[in-house]
Amino acid sequence: MKKILVIHTGGTISMMEDKETGAVQQNQLNPLLQHSDALSSIANVKVEELFQLPSPHITEKEMFILKEKIEKSIKEDQIEGVVISHGTDTLEETAYFLDITVQSNIPIVVTGAMRSSNELGADGPYNLISAVRVAASNSAVGKGVLVVLNDEIHTAKNVTKTHTSNIATFQSPQYGPLGIVSKRNITFHHVPTVRETYNIETVSKNVLLLKAYAGMDGSVIRAIRTLQPDGLVIEALGQGNLPPIMVPELKALITSGIPVVLVSRCFNGYVQDVYNYEGGGRQLKELGVIFSNGLNGQKARLKLLVTLEVTNKHNELQELFLK
Ligand code: ASP
Repeated sequence: MKKILVIHTGGTISMMEDKETGAVQQNQLNPLLQHSDALSSIANVKVEELFQLPSPHITEKEMFILKEKIEKSIKEDQIEGVVISHGTDTLEETAYFLDITVQSNIPIVVTGAMRSSNELGADGPYNLISAVRVAASNSAVGKGVLVVLNDEIHTAKNVTKTHTSNIATFQSPQYGPLGIVSKRNITFHHVPTVRETYNIETVSKNVLLLKAYAGMDGSVIRAIRTLQPDGLVIEALGQGNLPPIMVPELKALITSGIPVVLVSRCFNGYVQDVYNYEGGGRQLKELGVIFSNGLNGQKARLKLLVTLEVTNKHNELQELFLK
C-alpha cells in the first residue's frame, strides 16, 4: 500500500450546516476525520489538520507553509502521495501555487466540496476518497498537481471554479479534464506536456490583479503606481487590448520599474500582440507589457509572485510567461 499524507486545510468540505439557520460554518471537530478509516483500505494514510480556514482566508503565506510541509514529508517520511482538502473558492490558486513550487514528481491532489458535511448529497467524503485513490495511483505520478472533484481529474494549471454552487463547478475551459475517476479505475486520457517549477525560499512580493472594462481610464493605474507593488497583472480585453486612455499611465507604471503581465478576461485563448490601434496588443507589447500564455488572472498573479523571487529581468519574465 502506498504511503499517502492527507492534509486538511478547511473549507466547506470540513464544515456543517446549522439546520435551524441554514448557516454553513466550522465545527469544533473536523467531520472529515471520521472518514480516516475508509481511506485506510486504499492506502497507508496519515492524516494531519494543518489549518481550519475557509479558503477566502488562505493567503500565499499558507500556500508556502503547505509547500514546505509537503517537501519536508517527502524527505523525512518518504510519503508517496499527498491529498489536500481545501475550500473551493481559492482551491485553484493553492493547487497552482503548489504546482509551480513543489520540487517533486509524486502525485499531489487537491480536493474540496460544494456541500457541507451534513447536507443531503454531501460531496465531500466521496471527493476525498476519489482524491486518495488518484494520489495512490501509479498513473498519477509525474502529472503535476491535480484537482479531483466530481469524478474528474484536472490539472492545477487549467482548472477553474466556474459555478457558485453546482457540484460540477470545476472545469478546465479549452482543455477539459485529464482523466476520470470511475468505480473501478483511475483513467487518464490526456498527458500534460509541460511542468514548470521554481525553487523559492520565500514569498515576499506584492502582486496586484486588475480587471479591464469598457470605458476604464488611467486613474486606477495611477493609484497603483503610488502603492509601488512589485508587479501587476491585468485581465485585458479580448486578445490583449486596453482602452487607449489607460496607455500613458501604464507607460509611467512600467517606466517606474513595475512589471505588468497581461492575460485576457476571456476564459479561453491567449493574449497576443495583434491589434495596432491605440491601446491594442502591439502597442502594449512595445510599452514592455509581458504577455502570458492562457493562464487566468489569479494564476498569472501567483506565477508573477513566484517568478519575481527568481528574476526581475523583463526578458526573462517574458520567456517564463510563454512556457
Ligand atoms: N466558501 C467556501 C470556501 O472556499 C466554499 C467551499 O469550500 O466550497 O471555504
